[in-house]
Amino acid sequence: MATAITYEGKAKILTPTEQPGILRVLFKDDATAFNAQKRGQIQGKGAMNCTISSHLFQFLAEQGIANHFLAQPAANVMAVRALQMFALEVVVRNRAAGSLCRETGLPLGLELMPPLVEFYYKNDGLGDPLLTPERLRLLNLATPEEVQILGDAARQVNEHLRQFFAECGILLIDFKLEFGRDDHGAVILADEISPDTCRLWLADEADPVRRVLDKDRFRHDLGAVESAYQLVLERVLRQ
Ligand code: ADP
Ligand code: UDP
Repeated sequence: MATAITYEGKAKILTPTEQPGILRVLFKDDATAFNAQKRGQIQGKGAMNCTISSHLFQFLAEQGIANHFLAQPAANVMAVRALQMFALEVVVRNRAAGSLCRETGLPLGLELMPPLVEFYYKNDGLGDPLLTPERLRLLNLATPEEVQILGDAARQVNEHLRQFFAECGILLIDFKLEFGRDDHGAVILADEISPDTCRLWLADEADPVRRVLDKDRFRHDLGAVESAYQLVLERVLRQ
């Protein structure tokens, strides 16, 4: 009998396991951009993103950041704690890029000090809009206390990851996090942390195309997508 699929998203498939409260997450090679208007495949992406994410989640756990990672039973499979997810994407930006540049006119690469923390409504139908604090309250997607915890946790994750990537010779430009609640109401970091969800630039490369090591290579047809992800994987595993 086929295993029941709990959920198939754009990049991952979640299935239940025999153990209650534990999910199996299969990372796919499928890639989407611009709210799934652009679709394609990145060869080997599932295994690379799963391995990078697993390594970063274990690193963050060592730094005291609670997260859903339990094990990596196969190259493209992660076992995680099942959580009740917040319909929020928490974006942290160390430098201006992407939608921040498009929507504000700030120049690409401008350093943001302190880092900018932003909440987006995770809702594909609405195009994942940026939320004001008032709209965040209005939609009641998290309690005010949880919003504070999410922002603080995102800032802490940023400090750890920025340092980690700096030691890999990589600049952490921006990234997106997702969180969920466990059965006790604790806020836990979840989903993935990979070149699909982070902007990563080679620190010693000034060329604006050659330095890009993340999904922007796919979004903007810059070529050499797989080798960029592979480079991130190798440097992360070396740490
Ligand atoms: P999307 O849903 O945006 O298409 P994915 O294909 O990456 O994205 O699907 C993964 C889904 O799993 C996301 O909706 C994410 O919120 C959810 N998720 C991530 N970690 C957990 C977890 N620990 N428990 C339950 N759901 C999770
Ligand atoms: N991001 C993501 N998933 C989303 C939206 C954004 O992982 O649904 C990541 C993106 O890869 C980047 C950061 O969040 O690292 C900020 O993205 P931005 O708002 O600039 O949007 P973009 O221009 O990338 O669509």
